[in-house]
Amino acid sequence: MHYRSTRGGEAVAIEQAIMSGTAPDGGLYVPLVLPQLPGAAFDGATSLPEVATRLLQPFLAGSTLEADLATICAEALDFPVPLRSVEEGLSVLELFHGPTAAFKDVGARFLASTMARIVRQGRYARPPVTILVATSGDTGGAVAAAFHRRTGFRVVVLFPEGRVSPRQQHQLTCWGDNVLALAVRGEFDDCQRLVKQAFADAQLRTAHNLCSANSINVGRLLPQAAYYALSSLTHFRRHGRPASFIVPTGNLGNAFACVWARRVGLPIDRIVLATNANTTIADFLATGQWLPRPTVPTLASAMDVGNPSNMERLRDLCGSVEDLRGEVSAVAVTDDEIRAAIRVEFDCHGIAWCPHTATALHVYRRLPEVERHSRHWIAVATAHPAKFDTIVEPLLGCSVALPPELARLLHLPAHHETIGADLPELAARLGRA
Ligand SMILES: *Cc1c(COP(=O)(O)O)cnc(C)c1O
Repeated sequence: MHYRSTRGGEAVAIEQAIMSGTAPDGGLYVPLVLPQLPGAAFDGATSLPEVATRLLQPFLAGSTLEADLATICAEALDFPVPLRSVEEGLSVLELFHGPTAAFKDVGARFLASTMARIVRQGRYARPPVTILVATSGDTGGAVAAAFHRRTGFRVVVLFPEGRVSPRQQHQLTCWGDNVLALAVRGEFDDCQRLVKQAFADAQLRTAHNLCSANSINVGRLLPQAAYYALSSLTHFRRHGRPASFIVPTGNLGNAFACVWARRVGLPIDRIVLATNANTTIADFLATGQWLPRPTVPTLASAMDVGNPSNMERLRDLCGSVEDLRGEVSAVAVTDDEIRAAIRVEFDCHGIAWCPHTATALHVYRRLPEVERHSRHWIAVATAHPAKFDTIVEPLLGCSVALPPELARLLHLPAHHETIGADLPELAARLGRA
């Protein structure tokens, strides 16, 4: 399978698509042809690594990764993704049982596992490779965890000084070894700008073998389709009916993986996107006008995206806005509604959810009655509520127990350095490491 840019040009091998992240023309890589898998393709597959291996085999066919795929999936997807039944007609797919307690562990670990093999071959990149990543929260921790102590890799994480929560900061700065955490005097946008400038600087890029690990990398998207495959199959095997999904969305990576899973042939009915007060996606579906705008800060901060990049993939797949409306619908959720949803779910079911997951549960409760009762809904839980203790705990009036993996990280000593928001400072820091 080869991959082309959403903006045209020549198709490349998946190894190349993974190592370069975005296409040279600025587009995003998508498979030349979307494979079709018959239901029988998954016979006997019941675990996440098994389902992932069957699902991703055609996506990696003919590549140097194909022979190792089962090992890559076993190594990268080694934590549970349970489907928790909440009430008649509603389950929650919990994607927060990985090392940093957010769904980004799935993509980051698969990416690290594939990149390690590609770099070892020496054809597309040579070690040592520097993974440079800007983060406003979850991405940096997941990427740092996935590449921590991997031979041939160094990770440099840029985060905005004083603008991530204490627990989030700890998860960015607790690694040491081959992970360097840099607080940037500025905002998240400054961090992102610095990363872009570093990649645009040919000398810097070659000197450090800079690579990106951001969420538009096809190596992060593909494995995300696997948990939709597993949960939809699990539901279908039990009930003989396809399930519908509500996916909390910012940059559309997680949701796009769900669309791919359905296109490939998995038993998925409706896909509803839950956004926060950044309404670019919902407005586009309503008006047909694509109007990216500055990001609005919300309680579901990992979804604070005013210009969702993966819309380019979705539009490439669907063609017209009308067809897109047939594929997904979207609902924007305000901070007040997020707060109310966190409280209501705790009061009714005794379960605490993170603010991102709360957007999906709010959307579920507000579905038109017929819509809600005629289908089985799976709301996607993207992070553990203990990651967002400062928001969740005051609403519930009690503390949320830390999952063991998070507790372990929070007990490690933390270390970071601070730099100004300009390229020479970053370049100097990169050079010394
Ligand atoms: C990144 C993130 C999201 C948004 O995912 P996208 O793929 O960008 O749509 C939602 N929830 C949490 C907890 C996240 O970390």
